[in-house]
Amino acid sequence: MAIEQDQEVRRILHKAAQARQVDLEAWESALRVAVLCAGAKALAGLLEGIGSGRRKVALECECGRRMESRGVRKKELLTMLGSLSYSRSRFQCPNCGKSRYPGDEELDIVGTGRSPGVRRMMGRAGSRCTFKEGCQDLKIYAGIKVSAKDVERVAEGIGQDMEAWSRCERQQILQAQAESVRPEEKTFPLLYICADGTGIPMTRSELQGRPGKQADGSARTREVKLGCIFTQSAQDEKGFPLRDPDSTSFVGAIEPAEAFGWRLYGEALRRGLARAERVVVLGDGAQWIRNLGEFHFPEATLIIDLYHAREHVSDLCKILFHQEKEVVRYRLRWWTELDYGNIEKIAHQARQRLPQDPESCKKAEAEINYLEKNKERMRYADFRRQGLFVGSGVVEAGCKTIIGQRLKQSGMEWSLRGANAIITLRCIHQSGRLEDYWEARVP
Ligand SMILES: [Zn+2]
Repeated sequence: MAIEQDQEVRRILHKAAQARQVDLEAWESALRVAVLCAGAKALAGLLEGIGSGRRKVALECECGRRMESRGVRKKELLTMLGSLSYSRSRFQCPNCGKSRYPGDEELDIVGTGRSPGVRRMMGRAGSRCTFKEGCQDLKIYAGIKVSAKDVERVAEGIGQDMEAWSRCERQQILQAQAESVRPEEKTFPLLYICADGTGIPMTRSELQGRPGKQADGSARTREVKLGCIFTQSAQDEKGFPLRDPDSTSFVGAIEPAEAFGWRLYGEALRRGLARAERVVVLGDGAQWIRNLGEFHFPEATLIIDLYHAREHVSDLCKILFHQEKEVVRYRLRWWTELDYGNIEKIAHQARQRLPQDPESCKKAEAEINYLEKNKERMRYADFRRQGLFVGSGVVEAGCKTIIGQRLKQSGMEWSLRGANAIITLRCIHQSGRLEDYWEARVP
């Protein structure tokens, strides 16, 4: 510790001892400031000489020319210990004029005045709560003073970088899969792939020309597609399936179904799709999820979320019957049939009770057709006998916690870029992959 800081700490301790009143919070706050300040000095000492002085190897520009030193430049760097100034050599290419700071490259602070540790904290703060709350947390917890806008910019930047990192990883995985010739050995029993969608509020300019559910036909939200992958290797004593602990990972984005399909497929491959003895695709029966399942996972067992199927049966009852008592009676009866997977029986009985009114009749037909078309995906008794999950609760919970809690707060309006960056950050976090990302950044 520098001598002056040591003295500062002694001074605070002395003052505290002299004080007539005990004030622990004031003492610990004052000491934290002094200790951080001393740390910043020590850190500045460590950084001295990095990226300046004689180079052993010549620095080359992207264009191939040898770059020339243009002297030392100072920059302010915000670290976990506070601000410090850092001096390093600037190099410039005499050919194309590009400049580089090798010291910044070595320290992972190219184009930023914030250390990796501070950026990491800002990314976490901005992904967990609003940018404003994030900046307040940083100040209280870490004594780091940044603005809400700073937290937003840095968190978004990290989210975008994570997206680039995972895209790159995905491409490598897809490439390896395309090149592999031998089928992989099966090493675990069950892999689940689930998908769901949820709307988040967007800025007006992001919604221009998009049809929506508002009274005037405009949209207020855009759909985030969220996918989750988990494994199951056991059932409880009653035969109910158990999700393997820490086996759940998430991917999500606002993007067309086709792009999302490849995203989810890539994640499934990363999680061992080829090594799973059995694959189950679980969703709410939305067209895009069915298409995705059939296209990317043709071998998989497709299951429509039981609670979603129940809703369809419930809607059907409301169309067919007018008296509440009848609605309740048939709903109970058909939900039981649904549990047994007797879809044909429900369809048959419903067809005998079609309403006279052509409009209602058409609606009822549509519901019955939906059930018939998806009957093989609703054999719930069979699925349960095989010890499988029949509800997509995990991905629905993901929609609430990963997306809803952060991106659907009242008054929020997102840009596509900002929303996707934060969605990526939160998915990587929830998948327990933060360390993978930060480690991959180390050259
Ligand atoms: Zn150049």
